[in-house]
Amino acid sequence: ADVRSLLTGLIHDVPDYPKPGVMFKDITPLLADAKAFSVLTDVLAGLAQRHGATKIVGLEARGFILGAPAAVRAGVGFVPVRKSGKLPGATLSQGYDLEYGSARIEVHSAGLAEGDRVLVIDDVLATGGTAEASVQLIRRTGAEVAGVAILLELGFLEGRERVERALAGAPLDAL
Ligand code: IMP
Repeated sequence: ADVRSLLTGLIHDVPDYPKPGVMFKDITPLLADAKAFSVLTDVLAGLAQRHGATKIVGLEARGFILGAPAAVRAGVGFVPVRKSGKLPGATLSQGYDLEYGSARIEVHSAGLAEGDRVLVIDDVLATGGTAEASVQLIRRTGAEVAGVAILLELGFLEGRERVERALAGAPLDAL
């Protein structure tokens, strides 16, 4: 409960960003707080170890910021999932629907393989579309998804249901 209030107190609400009517959750105050960022990194690294992860996948872009230090602390490798067109090597790609339009994410084919167990990390879970597509993408590399860990879940958007369906029994942890 202590960790929870430490972290949530450093996530700020920004109204009408990036467009009118949206309440944006800004995690940059948490990142700027050495103690809070370190505690968060410990919690994420602990989850990676508990779930037997061999790799952490971070989702662009804030999933990189949270996932990379957690990977170092857990002693596992880090693999980025990026928006389409940003990775230089051979990739697998997964499309998904947004509220308006669609998006595409990619991972290096060589980054993950059969035998890997992956913990997926991102900052905010909203509709769950990004996390669901990531789970599907990672599975196509032959790797197993050990779980998804999210800093902040926007519970009213029912993203959890969608991600849990994709995870088929693997845990979704929202801090
Ligand atoms: P979803 O696909 O609708 O679940 O949206 C999640 C993705 O959008 C994540 O990669 C988040 O980083 C980003 N996102 C959505 N809402 C917010 C927010 O309020 N703050 C920060 N990131 C957000």
